[in-house]
Amino acid sequence: MSGFYIHVPYCRQACTYCDFHFSTVQKTREEVLPAMRTEMAYWLSQTNTPLVFDSFYLGGGTPSLLTFHELEGLFASFHQKATWRSGAEVTLEVNPEDVNRESLAFWKSLGINRFSMGVQTFNDDDLKALNRAHTGSQALRALREAQDSGFSNVSIDVMYGLPFGHWEDTLQKALDLSIPHFSAYALTVEPKTALYKGVKTGAIVLPPDEAVAAQATALRRAARAARFRPYEISNFAQPGHEAVHNSNYWKGKEYVGIGPGAHAYDGKFLRRANVPNNSVYAKAWNTQEGEGAYVFDALLPEEAFNEWLMIRLRTADGLVWDEVPEELLPLAEVQKTRMEECLESREKRGQAKPLPHQKGWTLTDEGWLWADQIAVELFVDLPEN
Ligand code: SF4
Repeated sequence: MSGFYIHVPYCRQACTYCDFHFSTVQKTREEVLPAMRTEMAYWLSQTNTPLVFDSFYLGGGTPSLLTFHELEGLFASFHQKATWRSGAEVTLEVNPEDVNRESLAFWKSLGINRFSMGVQTFNDDDLKALNRAHTGSQALRALREAQDSGFSNVSIDVMYGLPFGHWEDTLQKALDLSIPHFSAYALTVEPKTALYKGVKTGAIVLPPDEAVAAQATALRRAARAARFRPYEISNFAQPGHEAVHNSNYWKGKEYVGIGPGAHAYDGKFLRRANVPNNSVYAKAWNTQEGEGAYVFDALLPEEAFNEWLMIRLRTADGLVWDEVPEELLPLAEVQKTRMEECLESREKRGQAKPLPHQKGWTLTDEGWLWADQIAVELFVDLPEN
């Protein structure tokens, strides 16, 4: 088995831009966490073979706000039925305000060997505008403490395109931190968020698209100069430090997902989506044997092919014809000539380049700015009905 994901749907406060599934109502934890343990036991009992995972990822939400007792419960339920292979990547998403000597020692005792820390920016004005619960100096202190406690495998999330425009300073600090990995995302205005309302009323003014594109291009240049490889559109790693869990998503491998709003995938045509509602989820698993807690979605081959394509174009390895999954080969063979023509035309605009020996295609830095549009152009049509 490839990856095991647990979604912890709680946060201390709502960041203005966030459209992930989370709640700030902490009292439902008493019902939701037992339901998550029941769900875990259920999915892990679906096979008689011992389950050994390549990666284990606790995300959210803010999993680092769980108490030691709550975390221990989740890990115990996992270990009753499964394990991770020796040397597996075991990641915890943490927010800086949760990091201290005691929590670091506890997380280490659970087997966690990698952190993904939500820093976003080191600038306090931007942090306030985003309604983050930490300050820039708290984030730096948390990173130092984690490194001093022996956690060398630390990644941070940062954002560009922010209202106050201190991107160069945040980027430089991120590159100077002696961490092996970071993720950088453009601030995106999602419907139904506080940011959306702020932008609509003019209370928040974001930089123009050209300025954001220039920040993205400068980011890739600076990252390469500091020996970080942009191995995915938003992810940067020192050699050998690419994230295993997320890389397996991008390779289309199977994964198990637990918790409200989590997804699972069989690596072929079947997805499971858990209901993104804490009360409905808890009731379903605590009293209805899971009925109403999830839906399955069977992908058409065309949908699976388009998803595979979209994800691959966002990676530095790119679209490699030999790596098309076996079950999608018939579609790839029919579409290859048309897709090659589209990519050749993007090559003329400096947005795509062929891989050696006609193995496939990868996008250039300029092309990554247009990745979604290029993918849509390459998509195969879905059958009618
Ligand atoms: S801490 Fe993370 S999950 Fe929670 S609201 Fe902020 S961005 Fe969203």
